[in-house]
Amino acid sequence: MIDFHCHLDLYSEPFAIAAQVQERGMGALSVTTTPAAWQGTKRLGASRPAIRTALGLHPQLAGAREHELALFDRFLPETRFVGEVGLDGSPELLESWDAQVRVFDHVLAQCEAAGGKVLSVHSRRAATQVLDCLDRHPGAGAVVLHWFSGTKAELRRAVDLGCWFSVGPAMLNGARGRSHVADLPRERVLVETDGPFAQYERRPLRPWDVVIAVDRLAKLWGVGATSAASALRSNETSILAS
Ligand code: MN
Repeated sequence: MIDFHCHLDLYSEPFAIAAQVQERGMGALSVTTTPAAWQGTKRLGASRPAIRTALGLHPQLAGAREHELALFDRFLPETRFVGEVGLDGSPELLESWDAQVRVFDHVLAQCEAAGGKVLSVHSRRAATQVLDCLDRHPGAGAVVLHWFSGTKAELRRAVDLGCWFSVGPAMLNGARGRSHVADLPRERVLVETDGPFAQYERRPLRPWDVVIAVDRLAKLWGVGATSAASALRSNETSILAS
């Protein structure tokens, strides 16, 4: 199983976590929040093929780090994976909204120019605007909406656009998240933790805690955990082959 969205570089012991991911025979998409963190975070995946590092510029940092887009462009050829990127419409980030849109549009245009990447996308309180940006850049690649929390109509639009969805224990904890996940085509679902930001039972999630999401998905789908895991693995194979 692959944790399709975690922040390995933000754990207090990132190398120990990375080593465990490799030892447990699982995988992780290690997302970054700024291009400046790319080289350091990439080292966590050096000689660990289970760890794929994504180049990102988090919407919450887009206002302060827009100047790092030059670094983004420089590092992009080194990876197939981009994230965490996207838009965040929370009221406290309103001031950076224009910068967020410029950054996300730039990122999508670069992905498009590079022939398409696999992207992990944040869309909190901005699902419609994220989908509008994706509409403008149809060649950006395979888009995974991480922890999607939009409306049902936005969810349908995202499905129609061909988006994937990574869901984690925290999302599956809430009634709204579960109801969204129940509506998703099963062949577009991946699992994530968003650790160490996301917590479960008052402790930060670790990549191997994706098993909690697998168990919850199995219940939601009315299948056994083994069968849910094999469906998810086949989804992972299919997005990685895209
Ligand atoms: Mn995240």
